Amino acid sequence: MVPQSFYKSTRWKTKREKILRRDEYLCQECKRYGRSTAAATVHHINPLERHPELALVSPNLVSLCNPCHDKMHDRTTGVLTEAGERWREKVSPLPQSAAP
Ligand SMILES: [Zn+2]
Repeated sequence: MVPQSFYKSTRWKTKREKILRRDEYLCQECKRYGRSTAAATVHHINPLERHPELALVSPNLVSLCNPCHDKMHDRTTGVLTEAGERWREKVSPLPQSAAP
């Protein structure tokens, strides 16, 4: 279980900023379709709830716009959609968790 405070932590904010910069502040899902859309959020490809050890691991993170982020999870169950699973396959095998 990941505490809500995770998203308020300095470690997350710093990492989030780093990922956005890596992805040039563009939605990486839109980019696959040749569109340039500003990213609004950083998505955990392997869900945080199931893989808290990957919370701050760069290969597990991707910048997305809000509509694309909504497409990655089922809004009610939180289960990954087909689009979400595709990203998961892209990063599998699971990235190693970062050394502390
Ligand atoms: Zn998008």
